Amino acid sequence: MTTITRFAPSPTGRLHVGNIRTALHNWMLAKKHGGRFLLRIDDTDAERSREEYVDAIRADLAWLGLEPDGEARQSQRLELYDAAFEALKAAGRIYPAYETAQELELKRKIRLGRGKPPVYDRGALSLSDEERAAKEAEGIAPHWRFKLDHDAPIEWNDGVRGPQKFDPAQLSDPVVRRADGGWLYMLPSAVDDLDMGVTDVLRGEDHVSNTAVQIQMFTALIAARYAAAKMPSFAHEALLVGSEGKLSKRLGSLGCDHFRAQGYEPEALVAMLARLGTSQPVEPIADRALLVDTFDLSTFGRAPAKFDETELHRINAQIVHQLPFERVRGYLPSGFTEAAWLAIRPNLEKASEVIDWWQVVTGPVERTELSDEDRAYVGEAAGALEWGDNPWGQLTGALKDSTGRKGKALFLPLRLALTGRASGPDMGALLPLIGEDEARARLERAAGR
Ligand code: GLU
Repeated sequence: MTTITRFAPSPTGRLHVGNIRTALHNWMLAKKHGGRFLLRIDDTDAERSREEYVDAIRADLAWLGLEPDGEARQSQRLELYDAAFEALKAAGRIYPAYETAQELELKRKIRLGRGKPPVYDRGALSLSDEERAAKEAEGIAPHWRFKLDHDAPIEWNDGVRGPQKFDPAQLSDPVVRRADGGWLYMLPSAVDDLDMGVTDVLRGEDHVSNTAVQIQMFTALIAARYAAAKMPSFAHEALLVGSEGKLSKRLGSLGCDHFRAQGYEPEALVAMLARLGTSQPVEPIADRALLVDTFDLSTFGRAPAKFDETELHRINAQIVHQLPFERVRGYLPSGFTEAAWLAIRPNLEKASEVIDWWQVVTGPVERTELSDEDRAYVGEAAGALEWGDNPWGQLTGALKDSTGRKGKALFLPLRLALTGRASGPDMGALLPLIGEDEARARLERAAGR
């Protein structure tokens, strides 16, 4: 059986780092088993859903390299939900309810006041036909609830949390459809998962109790309408928290735009989120195949995963040090060569800093103040400069012999004269990029000539 996973955002806002992590894990789970990763846009709420967010979700997934193998939109599948709804109604699993929000709130308070869990009392189920007719005659349209089966506990073996068990009597019969015909999330999602052959539902642990309810929906739907379908497996990952250990507002607002604007590479974000909260070390792995190979739900912990942007910074630098020229070529100024990239790359924390170093290569460089002695020394260097295979090795070798200088005294004045900076990329790689004439001119200028 082909593994099919799905990422199912509601287009009511931008993706944040927690959503991105869920999308990534679903993508990895599918790829690990040679399966398919689907994007499902949960846009049944027409009022809150926005087209711009649908576009942004697609663009963010593309930036991350998590291209879906298929896309579906719930707003285009309403007939399917209608049919499922009718089938469940005919099977006696969906019933109309007439309470107003205020009545429900009052019932809730009374139950809580009596020390009972605030579960819906199924008042609507005891209405007689006449009472229902009277409500409708008053112009009260019903909303619709799914009737949970109280006979047996709901159990599943969660891919992250292990064996789970819920007593259905402790759960409210969920509202699946509003009085105006609009859908709530639960039923359409279960219908889609069966209809699309989703094999693995992997989502945040805030959905655990939804899963309990949806398992009964899956069972009822399979019996009523989807005889050939199979219930998916479920896994709920621990939530992401900020470095301060709390669910932070800030984390909820951090999305791809932020990471891109900060100059982080998508590879860095992917490498970090792939393993955060698992027992595997977060490492700067740019090779996705390797991340996918090592993806393993059984390594996921149950404690919240801590997201720390300083860790991302570190991973990003290590990723940049590995990025091949082809990957960055499009962002580099014209004339920038592969040799230049390889020389400069180890000095970067963010790829965008490469522009600074290119400025150092092409000049002009900042003037540095040297002591009289060092001015004379770099003047001597200008004369000693010879251009062969290894001009830096040749130059420093010759100056070592002629001046007796070594270490910092030998190298630093040359670096300052040639680059205007006290540290930077390996001079052996940088000097050929600067070129012979320009290098000599810089040495002479620093010598005060
Ligand atoms: N649209 C739901 C959400 O964003 C989907 C949850 C799920 O993965 O089933 O929470």
